[in-house]
Amino acid sequence: MMPMTRRDLEILLDHPDRRDYVVSAYVDLRVTDGFRRGGDVETILRNLGREARASLAEAKARKSLDEALDDVIRMASATEPAARGVACFRGIERGLRHVVALDFAVATRLVIDEEPFVLPLLVQWYTAPRCLAAQVDSHGVRLYERYGGVTEPVASRIRDVADDASRLNFKRQNGHEWHEHLSDLDHDPFLRAGAEEIAAWARGGAFDWVVVFGPSPITAAVVRRLPREVAARVVEGGSIDRSEGLDGVAQRLEAVLAEVQARQVRQVLEEFQGRWKEGHLLADGATETLDALQQGRAEQVLVGPRRDLGGARCPACGYRFGAPIGQCVYCQTPTRTVNALQEILRLAMRQQVPVLILEDAEAARVLSRNGQVAALLRADLNWSRSGGGRVPARFSA
Ligand SMILES: [Zn+2]
Repeated sequence: MMPMTRRDLEILLDHPDRRDYVVSAYVDLRVTDGFRRGGDVETILRNLGREARASLAEAKARKSLDEALDDVIRMASATEPAARGVACFRGIERGLRHVVALDFAVATRLVIDEEPFVLPLLVQWYTAPRCLAAQVDSHGVRLYERYGGVTEPVASRIRDVADDASRLNFKRQNGHEWHEHLSDLDHDPFLRAGAEEIAAWARGGAFDWVVVFGPSPITAAVVRRLPREVAARVVEGGSIDRSEGLDGVAQRLEAVLAEVQARQVRQVLEEFQGRWKEGHLLADGATETLDALQQGRAEQVLVGPRRDLGGARCPACGYRFGAPIGQCVYCQTPTRTVNALQEILRLAMRQQVPVLILEDAEAARVLSRNGQVAALLRADLNWSRSGGGRVPARFSA
């Protein structure tokens, strides 16, 4: 099945300051003992819809909910059988109709709000790394994608021996594998085409990592030809024998990713703790983290296990607050209630600020004394002029 893409999320994040309702539905589609958990999709959604309807005061809102719900049921019921869950979004007035088949489990729920409820998708996006793997050797370049813990082959390019006169001549003369002696791997047209292929896939898929397997002189030549933004995400995975096949690649990839992620978590946590001790360049809690993001000063967001962080958004000036305050601090307009974590992850995605979702034990070690969310900040001119020290919390939570 098609994994969730960055585009899926962007479509849903693209509706600022609308007042009409969006129905967001998540359905757990896992089947156990031949039965779908919780029963039939339509029955589940109708029941949830009845509860939601009771909470809506205006007749107009109820009518648009009924219409949206019918459509959501159609979308959810038509989900491909391989999916483990589905997320459907329907806003009649704003013309939003989007469905995402999910390769991960979700809790069934229905949310009616002025904005699509995208928190489960954002959390998953930042939890499971998306990875492109390339197995490169003298004979071919094989590409694999890994989404939601599953590795699948996506493309391969095999060297056309008949076209490669230099290789044939070389073999005839020496009887050796050509690549060990090839003087200039950088100018090998086959490897150049392989690098182009890797770059094209890497650009299309929003991958966190590009793991390259193969003999090091060959992988080095390929990596040198990758554009800088792709090369920055490359992890060298060592050599894999072609005979190991898909299972071999999947296993090795798993091990490489576990190592890379553990190293990343260690580095970020060390940095966090160092800054905590020195008391600078740190946003602590939802309020400070949202301030930092809205001021473009966040360089890394850390998120603990809590998902229900109360927040507010000002419909007039658009400012977002990490606490459920009733009135905008800047323009005194009555605010709307939002989930502060959803706002944090939306802003982080827009600004391409990396997000680290911490496991309970790691989070308890470093995040326990705040609202389970924090950010590392970059130094900037405003910051250094203010004379250092912790970011002042402008609004107390
Ligand atoms: Zn305001």
